[in-house]
Amino acid sequence: MTSIMSIQSSVAYGHVGNSAATFPLMRLGIEVWPVLTVHFSNHTGYGSWRGPLLKSSDVAEVVSGIDERGVLGRCDAVLSGYQGGEDVGAVILDTVKLIKERNPAAIYCCDPVMGDVGRGFFVRPGIPEFMRDHVVPAAQVITPNQFELEFLTGLQTTSVPDVLKAADAARAMGPETVLVTSVVHDAADQDTIDMIAVTGEGAWSVTTPLLPQTFTGAGDITAAMFLAHLLTTGDPAAAVSRTAAIVYGVLKTTVESGQGELQLVAAQEEIAAPSHTFEVTRL
Ligand code: PLP
Ligand code: MG
Repeated sequence: MTSIMSIQSSVAYGHVGNSAATFPLMRLGIEVWPVLTVHFSNHTGYGSWRGPLLKSSDVAEVVSGIDERGVLGRCDAVLSGYQGGEDVGAVILDTVKLIKERNPAAIYCCDPVMGDVGRGFFVRPGIPEFMRDHVVPAAQVITPNQFELEFLTGLQTTSVPDVLKAADAARAMGPETVLVTSVVHDAADQDTIDMIAVTGEGAWSVTTPLLPQTFTGAGDITAAMFLAHLLTTGDPAAAVSRTAAIVYGVLKTTVESGQGELQLVAAQEEIAAPSHTFEVTRL
């Protein structure tokens, strides 16, 4: 069975971080080992929230405890997202190193969570620079949104060729595969949004209808679904197409519910067997 250690935030109410990734991964039949970086009441987009940032030493303790079970050799991938404390990034890097010792075939997928278009940066000072200079270079797969891709590379992206150039610059930092999760570009229809995957083998894009709502946690489920399908199929084109279909299904169900939080339970069939399929275009 495919096993993923997922080091991310957890919220009691709603769905971001591990609270957006764990159930969809399990619904796909993947074994998930969630390691929490924060335990918040709700996501930070509400403007106020309560609950602790875990100390980096606590995060490291949880990982050590799993290692003492002797199971890290079965871990196929580490997925990281919202880090919380500024020193958690170093623990994530230590964890990736340890898991690769236990299983040399394991991969590291970093969702470089730090901000978004419109909202700007929403993580603690120092995290974006540490992410760019130390964490991203250790990853095999990264899943930035367009804002994060621009920060990581220092490049502006208004067209698809710009995005491809920035993705190649990000690949030159270390990762083999870059999934840009939400691309808006000058040649697109106003009411669509693209997902673009770039590897050494090529680049693929999928266009989906833009829904009339902004979602928090959409990036987190996107990263999890892409990693899961990349691990199970080994095919980035198939993975991006399936990921777009799942995320569109979950978001559409959410819009129809009238709720603000992702409707993961109501949309569970969309995770297992999405009702829409989207063509993937080779760029
Ligand atoms: N985790 C927490 C605690 C957050 O507050 C946020 C965004 O506000 C995220 C993760 C990332 O959400 P998204 O998937 O929209 O990038
Ligand atoms: Mg995100």
